[in-house]
Formats: sequence, C-alpha cells, structure tokens
Amino acid sequence: MTDLGQLTCPTCGASLEASSNMGTIKCSYCGNEFSVRQAAWSMYLETFARCPLCGRNDKVEKVSGIVSRATQDISGATIATSLLAKQLNPPAPPTSPPEPESPLYKAVFRPYDRAIGWGIVVLLVSIPFVFDWLIALIKTGNPSLLIGFFIWGSIFAGAILLIRRGNRKEKELRKGFEILKAQWQASMGRWKKSIGRWNRLYYCSRDDVVFIPGEKQAVPPGRMSEIL
Ligand SMILES: [Zn+2]
Ligand SMILES: [Zn+2]
Repeated sequence: MTDLGQLTCPTCGASLEASSNMGTIKCSYCGNEFSVRQAAWSMYLETFARCPLCGRNDKVEKVSGIVSRATQDISGATIATSLLAKQLNPPAPPTSPPEPESPLYKAVFRPYDRAIGWGIVVLLVSIPFVFDWLIALIKTGNPSLLIGFFIWGSIFAGAILLIRRGNRKEKELRKGFEILKAQWQASMGRWKKSIGRWNRLYYCSRDDVVFIPGEKQAVPPGRMSEIL
C-alpha cells in the first residue's frame, strides 16, 4: 500500500510531500534528510543521521542548514547560534596566486624593467648619431671620433646586459609562478573534496559534535576541519 502524505519538516517547518514507500526524503528548504517511517495510521519523519556518540537522531541537524539559516536570518539569530554557525562555516577556497603582470605594467612600474625600456630607447635614438660618427670617421680619419664610438659601444653593451638580466629575472618569476599555480591547483582539489564532505556533515546539539552519517568519528565544531 502506498500512502501519500503532507508532512512538515521537523527542522524548519516547511511542508514536504512524502509517500510511505520512500526510504528517505530531503527537505529542499533546509537540506536535512529524514527517514520516512510508517506508524499504524500515519507517517512521520525521523532524522536520517544518527549521532555516533549518543546513537540518537532527535538533536541532530544538517550543518549546511544551520549555516544558511544563520546567514539568512541576521536580525533573529541569537549570538549563540551565529557563533556556532561561524564555527561550522564551510572551509574557504584557497586564494589563487597573483598572475605575472603585463609587460606594459612592468615597463611603467617595475624599476628593473623600466631600466631595460630606457636602454632600448637610448639604443634606438643613438643609432642615427652612430652612423654619422662612422661616416665622419671614414671620411676624415680623425681618431678623436673613436672616443665617441667607444662611449656608445659601452652604453650598447650595458643595455644588452640589462636586457639579458631582465629576461632571466622574468623567467625566474614565471617558474616561481608556475610552482605556486601547481600548489594552488592541488589545494583546490583538496578544498573541493572537503566541501563535498562538509555538505554531508551533521551536528548533534546534545553532544556538541559534528559527524558524517555512517562514520564513527565525531568532533566538536571547533575541530570540524579534522573530519573534512
Ligand atoms: Zn527543512
Ligand atoms: Zn549526540
């Protein structure tokens, strides 16, 4: 025999439609799961999760429900519930490493890259002058013109050295960034896994512990991270 019935969620009071052949039902408002029980003439709901410490389910509530209720109902929440909700907050995602900045940003704001930029400008501007020097040197054979050429040559060499060093630094930065990114991706994977477990957490207010149904471990809310 299949019975359809209108029941209220024992946790949040939302109305749920249950049938007696349903094993479990999940409240779409607060996220709590219940076992559908059949008594002589009626159906009733029993919290699905049993606390591993007291073995009972009457003081048990889903952690995600506690947290969303505390964030929705700011005015009505007592200090105690909001404190508990704070402890039961889902773990925060790891922050992503900063991207290496754009070449334009570096040329404007990073002294080292600015020096490289100026080095290139000086080289480009000096090229016509150097041509003039060379032509004058060839025409006149005046050795004093060589001094100017050597000065330009040293500036040129200095600028090339700066550029090479800048490129090496850039490569090091990239490499460091790739390492940080790989570490971040690994911790993202761990975070996603612990969010999955967090979504299955229940809280027993009798023992002040959180647990995952079917697992033996139960810890106080302050040590929630241990079972995630
Ligand atoms: Zn509910
Ligand atoms: Zn308990």
